[in-house]
Amino acid sequence: MSTTLDPAARAATAAPFDDLAGLLRGTLITPDGPGYDEARQVYNAMIDRFPAAIAQCRDVTDVRNCVRFAREHDVEIAIRGGGHNAGGLGTWDGALVIDLSPMRSTTVDPERRTVRVDGGCTWADVDHATVDFGMATPSGFIGSTGVGGLTLGGGVGYLTRQYGLTIDSMLSADVVLANGEFVTERGLAQRPVLGVARGRRQLRRRHVVHLPAPSDR
Ligand SMILES: Cc1cc2nc3c(=O)[nH]c(=O)nc-3n(C[C@H](O)[C@H](O)[C@H](O)COP(=O)(O)OP(=O)(O)OC[C@H]3O[C@@H](n4cnc5c(N)ncnc54)[C@H](O)[C@@H]3O)c2cc1C
Repeated sequence: MSTTLDPAARAATAAPFDDLAGLLRGTLITPDGPGYDEARQVYNAMIDRFPAAIAQCRDVTDVRNCVRFAREHDVEIAIRGGGHNAGGLGTWDGALVIDLSPMRSTTVDPERRTVRVDGGCTWADVDHATVDFGMATPSGFIGSTGVGGLTLGGGVGYLTRQYGLTIDSMLSADVVLANGEFVTERGLAQRPVLGVARGRRQLRRRHVVHLPAPSDR
């Protein structure tokens, strides 16, 4: 972590970000470009960090290009989902922020009673997509919280007492590993969670989430 108060010094790295910009469908925002101050903000207004660049990713290939670039040029990364983390872990001084917030598509499968959601979705996005089908997920108390960060922390909300943690309902995850490799991890909710085996009937009654989790730091 940087100790200087000078924003330019805190954001500085020698990495060739113009090269990365050319590889992305989304927008790469750097400290000297428009929108930087808006893009570096997170939910907790006390967090005032100065990333080297913010990649507003549009798809998984953008995420993979960011991870490979950061690895090649030895740049730290921060992954931003909903941006709600109180400690501001979705952004960092001198880091490349892999901002998933433009990726907010949802796909409901009413027959299987599942929903597949992009890594930048908030719970409001998921609720909007599912409520019309009479489905709901154990999630958080506030709709603007990100699906990614909340689920990775377990996830506690109104439905938890009856249906468990959010993560107990996660069926699969698309993951970009630290080397840029893409894998899909399946069968998550069928595995014993905290020593409790999940029965088929319980799973059918649930609304289960396919959660893309685009990076493994
Ligand atoms: C107002 C408020 C209300 C809250 N209410 C609840 C609640 O009801 N229940 C509950 O369980 N928690 C609650 N939380 C806590 C919340 O779950 C965590 O702060 C969570 O980290 C927020 O996730 P995010 O994606 O919005 O945050 P971010 O700041 O974007 O990310 C948080 C962390 O998760 C990582 N991350 C996010 N998405 C991904 C991804 N797709 N792949 C890899 N890493 C990822 C980030 O790198 C970061 O380390 C609340 C927080 C706030 C501020």
